[in-house]
Amino acid sequence: MASPDGRASVFIDSHAHLADPAFAGDRGEVIGRARQAGALAIVCIGESIDAATIAAACAAENPGFVFATAGIHPHDAATFEATRDIPKLRELLERGAVAVGECGLDYHYDNSPRQAQRDAFSAQVELAAETRRPVIVHTRDAEDDTRAIIGDARAAGVGGVLHCYTGTHSLAAFAIDAGWYISFSGIVTFKKWTDDELLRLVPEDRLLVESDSPYLAPVPFRGKRNEPSWVAHTLNKVAAARGVDPLRLGRTTASNTERLFGLALHAA
Ligand SMILES: [Zn+2]
Ligand SMILES: [Zn+2]
Repeated sequence: MASPDGRASVFIDSHAHLADPAFAGDRGEVIGRARQAGALAIVCIGESIDAATIAAACAAENPGFVFATAGIHPHDAATFEATRDIPKLRELLERGAVAVGECGLDYHYDNSPRQAQRDAFSAQVELAAETRRPVIVHTRDAEDDTRAIIGDARAAGVGGVLHCYTGTHSLAAFAIDAGWYISFSGIVTFKKWTDDELLRLVPEDRLLVESDSPYLAPVPFRGKRNEPSWVAHTLNKVAAARGVDPLRLGRTTASNTERLFGLALHAA
């Protein structure tokens, strides 16, 4: 369990797309390397019905270590049909998916019409309220509408996380005030990253780390297929920005992830 600087490392990867075809050939080895690197668990994101089905199977094969989620990504909101998709998501949640998502709003790429994105996001927040799960939220260039839906979620007693967060300080503060968590990915290790202040703004008990693999590999692996075992690089960067011990921060962010998702961990 060595971190990049040779010290022990402990973490939970709060957001990995292990259901992605990029991992179809060696998913088991990727999970094995994560354990070796000090991962206590991996949250495997189901960002479509198909991905969530694969994520559920992966969780079943790795009990107490891989945990699945179920949701519809904002990029795919145009093809979301509540009457068809919500029952499928509900079934996956009833069978053990730990969160609804990822869902949210992406007005940067606008791959789906904005109204369809809002409708799909709101429907998933309602499902989270009904099934008493947190939501995993992707938000990009959609601050006002994200704020409004976090407000609705808060009123419905739904908590969640803003994942792979790179947005404004004020939206982060708004989410934290609503009881939410903020998760950082390998983006914070990139040369172009300039907002260490954001890394310091999140209270330690609301902070998560993630790979968002297979995307966004941290430095020094930038451009490669990302995998959960490299989360230690992101964790080290966040710890350095905050001036705290990465081992302690790894433990704290792991227990935050456990608490948010209600994970029942199994020692490997
Ligand atoms: Zn995302
Ligand atoms: Zn994602």
